[in-house]
Amino acid sequence: MAKTLQIEGQEEASLAQAVAVLARGLPVAIPTETVYGLAADATDSGAVRTIYAVKGRPSVNPLICHMSDLVMAERHADFDPLSRRLAEAFWPGPLTLVLPLRAGSPIAPEATAGLPSVGIRVPRGFAGRLIAAYGKPLAAPSANPSGRISPTTAAHVEAGLGERIELILDGGPARVGVESTIVKVEGDGTLRLLRPGGLSVDDIERVAGVPVSRGQAASAAIEAPGMLASHYAPRAAVRIGATEVRPGEAFLKFGSAAVPGEDAAVAVFALSAAGDPAEAASRLFELMKRADETGATSIAVSPIPPTGLGEAVNDRLARAAAPRPEKDEAS
Ligand code: AMP
Ligand code: MG
Repeated sequence: MAKTLQIEGQEEASLAQAVAVLARGLPVAIPTETVYGLAADATDSGAVRTIYAVKGRPSVNPLICHMSDLVMAERHADFDPLSRRLAEAFWPGPLTLVLPLRAGSPIAPEATAGLPSVGIRVPRGFAGRLIAAYGKPLAAPSANPSGRISPTTAAHVEAGLGERIELILDGGPARVGVESTIVKVEGDGTLRLLRPGGLSVDDIERVAGVPVSRGQAASAAIEAPGMLASHYAPRAAVRIGATEVRPGEAFLKFGSAAVPGEDAAVAVFALSAAGDPAEAASRLFELMKRADETGATSIAVSPIPPTGLGEAVNDRLARAAAPRPEKDEAS
């Protein structure tokens, strides 16, 4: 049974306890600005294998390696000029860069699923300070059972993994609420989106000065396994782009205009009454869980504009609505 420790008011003690668990080769759940992560020493094969085991995550799905800063990142990856520019502009923050793994890096092969590349991000806040205190990169996927909705609060982590981990650091609700945006600079200098997330493509393009391509390469299945099939699956069915609410449905509403049938909904949850996609992103996972907990057989979701963080919101909703594998093996 996990112990949950409030960070606020006792950050030094929180850091010390987290470092002690990491040093024993075990994972610890930590807040980041995107979602809560299940973090372990990225250079320790046994620790990384434990992450996969605790989550039930397929070992072919590489983990993002979190660094304290660009200096640490450069020890583990070879940066091209465009990737460096993006790192300088957006780190710490919700951007993951896929880069060639640097020769001699001690990152465990399990963390990259044996790929010659590594996904790197520098998180904000407590997570960044924890990595600095520990002195080594931390592999950290979302702190939820594989295939389920990502956690944006310590309580979500406790509900999903509380029986399987020792320590959860509680830093309050995640600010961004969806996972990081993943991009990769290709050999020809073009920039490719592997996963939309908490940093908008518009913001990336503004700094990059080149367009971000969304087209999937043939190798995308290997390069971004998180992009596949059913993911973020609640127990209820999910119906996206809903312009009316059907009998028996719970409703995730975007905007404030009246929607036919909403008065008879099992429950109505506001993703963003103001119609702000970033606010919808920050509330998405919490409200999907709450809608699921109503016991409704279906969750209807308003159309979300694809602008800004709306791209990431729509991506996660499409995955939640995708046909489920018979046995849940999506990651
Ligand atoms: P998450 O599931 O949020 O931990 O994100 C992990 C995702 O990052 C994976 O499913 C991949 O899409 C991507 N990723 C991580 N490392 C790599 C890598 N070395 N090469 C390509 N994609 C990666
Ligand atoms: Mg995840």
